[in-house]
Amino acid sequence: MGFRIAFGGVHTESSTFNPVPTTLADFRVLRGDALRGDARYGFLDAYDATFLPTLHAAAIPGGPVARETYNAFKDEFLARLSALVPLDGLYLDMHGAINVSGMDDAEGDWIGAARELVGPKCLVAASYDLHGNVSKRIVDALDIFSAFHTAPHIDVVETKKRACTMLVNALHGGYRPQLVWVPMPVVLPGEMTSTVNEPARGLYRHLPEMDALDGVLDASLLVGYVWADEPRAQASVVLTGTDGNVLRREAVALAERYWNARHDFGFGVRAGGLEACLEWFVELDAYPVILSDSGDNPTGGGVGDTTFVLTELLRRRLDGAVVAGLADAPATNACYAAGEGADLELSVGATLDPETSRPLHVRARVAHLHPAETERERQAVVTLGGVAVVLTAARRPFHYPADVERLGISLSDTRLLVVKSGYLTAELTQAAAHTLLALTPGTVSQELKGLHYRRQGARFPLEPDLEWTAEPYTKM
Ligand SMILES: [Zn+2]
Repeated sequence: MGFRIAFGGVHTESSTFNPVPTTLADFRVLRGDALRGDARYGFLDAYDATFLPTLHAAAIPGGPVARETYNAFKDEFLARLSALVPLDGLYLDMHGAINVSGMDDAEGDWIGAARELVGPKCLVAASYDLHGNVSKRIVDALDIFSAFHTAPHIDVVETKKRACTMLVNALHGGYRPQLVWVPMPVVLPGEMTSTVNEPARGLYRHLPEMDALDGVLDASLLVGYVWADEPRAQASVVLTGTDGNVLRREAVALAERYWNARHDFGFGVRAGGLEACLEWFVELDAYPVILSDSGDNPTGGGVGDTTFVLTELLRRRLDGAVVAGLADAPATNACYAAGEGADLELSVGATLDPETSRPLHVRARVAHLHPAETERERQAVVTLGGVAVVLTAARRPFHYPADVERLGISLSDTRLLVVKSGYLTAELTQAAAHTLLALTPGTVSQELKGLHYRRQGARFPLEPDLEWTAEPYTKM
């Protein structure tokens, strides 16, 4: 017979405090055959079903997605989907924390429109990041749901497989799964809810046991995305299965475990203000020390161009420190124009977000220019006395030792590596003698009280005395 399943989606994370809009140029878009041929979807070949590509657009986290960018993707996705109906199934590969300018529930809009198009008989599955926010509209439009079990995320493919396996099994078995959703008025930063540390570790470790219960197909726990000032931003439990009573009982139990643990979340690493972190650094005697400039983490939705840490490193003359990286297209291009070995006057930082950050005027030497095919890929290493800075044309993460080593920076010769990141990847943690989490200012600041929430509603920890009773919502 051969079941026909379309797939596609839209994928990013938007800090509503970040003033820099995410636009077309920020997205990597795969459509049609290019999407079907992408290595990330090679796992679909193993299923006894035909997966039909539509469009998938993904961007590094940032500010809200421009309305016209979102609309262009949505229109093309729906046009491609409409050419494929009738369908037996639809698989949506989503993140879950997109904010579109002037829209509170972008995934609800996308998934809802997809459901309307494919009709009520088609089974619709979605995979999510555990930093996604869920809404009733999203739950109403879906039949199958699965979110990551790990942060840092090391089960990306496994999660997509869980969603697709449930979808294909349900089609072959001729049944329609149910969803139960329990929202919880808690929303904590990812840095406090890493599954490497307790209590998240224990809570997530329990999920496969729940999946194994009769009547349950998948148990998902989402910590939500905190830097979204929108009503849907909160933690969620979403269970997919076949027995409504078991699903409601287990979903409530899991949500209550999370709620009861809310006071126990903390940073799994030594964390403090920048002053404190730099005091600790000078006491340490093994290197490299890797310090996260967490308030300006572009992979959490931060801007990535604040000079707060760099200014302090220069003031303290912390020679042997490397800052990787700082997004500044004009400064990067000026370095490429000057050439390797050149000395020049530079204004560094605050070109994207002049409100949060302040530019730094420095005399710099161009130490290295990364051979780049496009202007966006440019990366220049400059030295400001004994401190090195990686300037990048586009906002980008430095998550792996290779990201700096390919620029001629030796980690073993580096005393202090500053990355604009939250929790570190396993690779950077392994490369570090010590790690420090600096609670710096920025649009993804860990100091939630300093951000101006207006629309999120009452949430722990901003409202520490909140009371709550689990109210499971069942989508039949
Ligand atoms: Zn995430």
